[in-house]
Amino acid sequence: MKRILLLGGTAGARQAAETLAARPGLAVVFSLAGRVAALAPAGATLRLGGFGGADGLLAYLRENAIDAVLDATHPFAARMSANAVAACASAGLPYARLERPAWTPGPGDDWRAVPDLAAAVAAPRAGERVFLALGRAGSAAFAARDDLWRAARAAEDGAPVPGIDWLEIGPPGDATADAALFSRLGIDRIVARNSGGRDGRGKLDAARALGLPVVMIARPPAPDARCFSTVEDAIAWTRRD
Ligand code: NAP
Repeated sequence: MKRILLLGGTAGARQAAETLAARPGLAVVFSLAGRVAALAPAGATLRLGGFGGADGLLAYLRENAIDAVLDATHPFAARMSANAVAACASAGLPYARLERPAWTPGPGDDWRAVPDLAAAVAAPRAGERVFLALGRAGSAAFAARDDLWRAARAAEDGAPVPGIDWLEIGPPGDATADAALFSRLGIDRIVARNSGGRDGRGKLDAARALGLPVVMIARPPAPDARCFSTVEDAIAWTRRD
């Protein structure tokens, strides 16, 4: 039996954990940062909370006799990925990323690509009403832009986000719900990260339908490691000796 540590944090990672766990010969430990309540994926063991940096993760890998690490964290979770690469290198364990492809603009999309959050903060014009699809930490980066009216969405409940005028707690909406929301709030511009995947796509389709511009933050550099875009390819990799 091979023991796979699957680092999660997206809906796709959870599905991957269930697919992997259903295959004979694989035991899956599904790990989450623990910021939102979660149940174990079917067939997998759930663990919650940080490991304590790369050294903590290295100790965890050894204590739990992990054979390989599959990193299916969000593309913007760069610290966890860097720690996993470092810990696997120290432990001599195979590491790979499972990553959904980035979104690309299509006809009717009005995207302005920016390299990072700082550039996104600078992008909106004074007086605009912006919708920040950036979670708590990303939205808080707009605290100093008090020349904007700022709406935001975050997955997890908690303290108010500094500078945010309107906050929705919950998962991303679909295109119809987000179009209605943006119209109701009188939004002029969306600010988003290029997360990829189906779940967060609704805001982009809504922006296109309403003719709204999107400031799109590019992904941070991916680790220099094997990367799979399908669960089946990742499973084939976990089965290799
Ligand atoms: P991050 O900056 O890379 O991670 C911060 C710390 O959280 C890590 O150093 C680690 O703590 C802990 N952590 C992160 N993912 C973990 C996991 N799967 N299992 C155990 N510990 C984990 O990431 P973040 O941007 O704060 O995101 C936190 C989690 O939310 C990630 O799992 C990510 O997949 C998910 N998420 C992130 C975004 C985003 O936009 N960044 C969006 C949706 C979901 P230690 O150093 O103590 O090990």
